[in-house]
Amino acid sequence: MKLIKKILVSILAAAIVAACFAGCSKSENDKNTGTSGTKTLVMATNAEFPPYEYFENEQIVGIDAEIAKAICDKLGYELKIEHIDFDSIIPGVQGGKYDFGMAGMTASEERLENVNFTQSYATGIQAIIVPENSNIKTADDLSKGGVTIGVQKGTTGDIYCTDDIESKNLGTVERYNKGADAVMALTSGKVDCVVIDNEPAKVFVEKNKGLKLLDSAYTEESYAIAVSKDNDALLKELDKALGELIADGTVKQIIDKYIPAE
Ligand code: GLN
Repeated sequence: MKLIKKILVSILAAAIVAACFAGCSKSENDKNTGTSGTKTLVMATNAEFPPYEYFENEQIVGIDAEIAKAICDKLGYELKIEHIDFDSIIPGVQGGKYDFGMAGMTASEERLENVNFTQSYATGIQAIIVPENSNIKTADDLSKGGVTIGVQKGTTGDIYCTDDIESKNLGTVERYNKGADAVMALTSGKVDCVVIDNEPAKVFVEKNKGLKLLDSAYTEESYAIAVSKDNDALLKELDKALGELIADGTVKQIIDKYIPAE
């Protein structure tokens, strides 16, 4: 079931990109056509998601920030990154307030109804954080009944747990604005576990004593860049540059810098 979900998302993302390539023309890009070196692309992110995006000395750094910079350098754009709530990214991109959204964002079927996605540049796993002495041992234990799950609002962790567990009355979902707040609720015993992407999960477990990551993950997903459905030319530009940066090893190099091999 989960594998089917994942495959479907990949196929859909590829289909959307392919459809754009077949149908779009340069003139459709009203804002950002050309690579003159003077235009700015505004990226929306939520810098609460280490190591993909986080604040360091008041600057947003991380895997997404570096990949976005490499893409913009390649295309001759200036890059401006704005930090907003995670669940405001899709509406902001959809409405044209931001040129693209990059936030460890899963190219999900639901989001594809509102925005387009480039090809994927990384994989995420919905991981489960529990206290070291927890009775929760596997992902299946989450739906055994009576478990309170902490998530970051509007993330796929929220959506899966809401759809698969809470809406079937098998457990409760508590939603927090930041992943770090969900983890704080876990350390203070307000929730029994936190479902969140594995890389930030590792960072949070490292920073908080008495927590551990379960080996059993919830599901696997693909991260991609979100672009407005009205800006096919930009989608094409970003996707092409991203594809080249994947092919020449730049993306892997950036990811390896932030996520050392285990
Ligand atoms: N990958 C998850 C999602 O897209 C979480 C992303 C995030 O919290 N920045 O919903």
